[in-house]
Amino acid sequence: MKKILIVEDEKKISRYLQLELEHEGYSIDIADDGAIALEFFKKNFYNIILLDLMLPKLSGEEVCRQIREKSEVPVIVLTARDKTFSKINLLDLGADDYITKPFAIGELLARIRVALRHKKKFSDGDQVIDYGGIRINLDKKVVDIQEKEVSLTKTEFNLLHYLVLNREIVLSREQMLNNVWGYDYAGGEKIVDVYIKSLRKKIDYGEKKLIHTIRGFGYILKEEN
Ligand code: CA
Repeated sequence: MKKILIVEDEKKISRYLQLELEHEGYSIDIADDGAIALEFFKKNFYNIILLDLMLPKLSGEEVCRQIREKSEVPVIVLTARDKTFSKINLLDLGADDYITKPFAIGELLARIRVALRHKKKFSDGDQVIDYGGIRINLDKKVVDIQEKEVSLTKTEFNLLHYLVLNREIVLSREQMLNNVWGYDYAGGEKIVDVYIKSLRKKIDYGEKKLIHTIRGFGYILKEEN
């Protein structure tokens, strides 16, 4: 199910959007101000963010800027008709699109579909594994973390693939060595630690950690609650 974060301080609007978007099959979170929006963004994975600009605590512009430091999630700005700004400014901020309030829900839904399609590097037939904001495309050998493509070496890719397939299970260095490097690999288990370290640098974002060390056993890939 596609997840949408609505950042809007006018409850009448956010409730209306929630009802309409849930009806369309989207899962919805609502943030009433800019600070809460960033909290939600750090903790959860979203396919789209709908962002009002005039917000308490942190402006929509600032929220957009901070989101863009971490992620390429599509952002559609909801603006009031009387606010004058240019589309160029919004695009500078990293927003993907904007819609002027009041808008017809049909138009917003169309914009959402376009934004989702636009971001898609993954064709429908591809074999894809999704977990904790990690998306692995097994056919194209592409990995996205929170919608942002990360570049992995072949071994890093194979290791991440193995970890995600065995997510939430503690794996020993020996298991990882045998399955990723192969039984005939002559080097020691230290290589696992080296690759875990480089993978962590590439896939952990913000405070969110996915690979955890289990002292005396090995490693586990899991989302923290
Ligand atoms: Ca507002």
